[in-house]
Amino acid sequence: MPNSEPYQPDNIFARILRGELPAHKVYEDDVALAFLDIMPQSDGHTLVIPKLQARGLLDMPVDAWGPYMARVQTVAAAVKKGMDADGLTLRQYEGAAGGQTVFHLHFHILPRWEGVGLRRHGDAMEKDEVLKAHAAKIRAAF
Ligand code: 5GP
Repeated sequence: MPNSEPYQPDNIFARILRGELPAHKVYEDDVALAFLDIMPQSDGHTLVIPKLQARGLLDMPVDAWGPYMARVQTVAAAVKKGMDADGLTLRQYEGAAGGQTVFHLHFHILPRWEGVGLRRHGDAMEKDEVLKAHAAKIRAAF
């Protein structure tokens, strides 16, 4: 069953998709856009969003999952390689009660290193120059 709330076209990620707000983009094609999270839980924390309008997992048309998840996998590989990570954690928060704060479907790709914990979700803004440097590393890894 889809989410009961309608999609809001003025959410932050829709505005990034339309080019109305800046973002450190690492990948874009006709299906998905990937960019760095401004409050990273680990260095290189990347978000992958579908171009179609879906509030969350429950609203995504079944046929759209294959192409979208293929992009999530492609971006995950570049994030791991570009950030020289030991592993990755993928997350998706569904609905406000599930921890979702931006209501356009997205998967979080979190680079992980042995013995290094994650920072808190949506806690502290990263410096723009740090995000810029991490985005350059990831873009170079495709
Ligand atoms: P959610 O809580 O919906 O799963 O995740 C939303 C994510 O978007 C959070 O991790 C938050 O740090 C990030 N975020 C919020 N506003 C912006 C923004 O304006 N630009 C970028 N790049 N990320 C944002």
